[in-house]
Amino acid sequence: MKNPQVTRKRLPYPSLEEWVNRIRAGEVSFLSQAITLMESSLPEDRKLAEDLIQEVLPYSGNSIRIGITGVPGVGKSTFIEAFGCKLTAQSKKVAVLAVDPSSPLSGGSILGDKTRMEKLSGDTHAYIRPSPSGHTLGGVSARTRESILLCEAAGYEIILVETVGVGQSEVLVKDMTDFFLLLMLPGAGDELQGMKKGIIEMADLMVIHKADGDNLKRARRAQVDYQQALHLLPLRQVDWNPEVVMASSLTGEGLDAIWNKILDYKSSTQASGRLTENRRTQMADWFQQTLNEMLLDYLSKKWKDNPESAKIRQAAIAGQMNPVLAARKIFDINIY
Ligand code: GDP
Repeated sequence: MKNPQVTRKRLPYPSLEEWVNRIRAGEVSFLSQAITLMESSLPEDRKLAEDLIQEVLPYSGNSIRIGITGVPGVGKSTFIEAFGCKLTAQSKKVAVLAVDPSSPLSGGSILGDKTRMEKLSGDTHAYIRPSPSGHTLGGVSARTRESILLCEAAGYEIILVETVGVGQSEVLVKDMTDFFLLLMLPGAGDELQGMKKGIIEMADLMVIHKADGDNLKRARRAQVDYQQALHLLPLRQVDWNPEVVMASSLTGEGLDAIWNKILDYKSSTQASGRLTENRRTQMADWFQQTLNEMLLDYLSKKWKDNPESAKIRQAAIAGQMNPVLAARKIFDINIY
């Protein structure tokens, strides 16, 4: 599915006050329209988006934000569907967002595929939003942060942020969630060797997924292997010990246990103060990243408009000037 907002005629925006009230009342069309606004890069839309976020901020924060990652094919969407349906069956409101940096290249988000999460997407207690396409990785993460706040204001108490298990996107998702869940394939002893240690270190819970039928024996072995691997890592936090559990989204086995672990984590980190502290750190990072991007944007435009700077750059490219010296000269001309 291509980004549907591109072709659809835009509805007139409501007033800020009405917009916030309708979002808070849980009106999904207003929430969706707000997220679409967040994804716009038009300067006037960005300004309105900032104002809207400012208005919903007091009503945000009341959720558990769960990051979910794993290699393609590990069963993330099947898991989110089964896990999400379990939670909505308990009358909980669940939002699913995605950070999918590959979407601009593939021309559409993985989550945009309607065949995924069919049951959950028809559930009135669930809200599923595909990844914004046509953004840089940093842009996707900024939009997702804003979408989290909007979903919280709309009363979603569990926010699942999915990412494909490639490179940088896990770090971004880790930086915007409270709890990080890593899905693994059974019988993955070899995978362990090649797996980035950094990802294992980030996980608050590792799930050996597809632990059913013929996979069960291999899943048990993988559980032991990964548990041992975890023991070799330095203890990260005093209030939480990451564990390895088994689950199957086909049979539903293990899904309740995962939810209980998340609840344990929440109460333990609430008691220690780390949950609040993490969110404060994440706000500080968000602020700093945004300011850095704005500064970089401003400065790069400024020096590109300066003819002397262009000459210096050419000299560096032609090998007539040391690139470090060239950069320093351009910096001095444009900044001081
Ligand atoms: P994703 O790429 O990580 O989102 O993976 P999908 O959810 O699309 O699942 C990939 C494949 O694994 C599909 O064929 C699923 O039917 C299968 N699958 C997902 N969950 C399970 C599970 O719990 N057990 C088994 N045996 N297969 C599963």
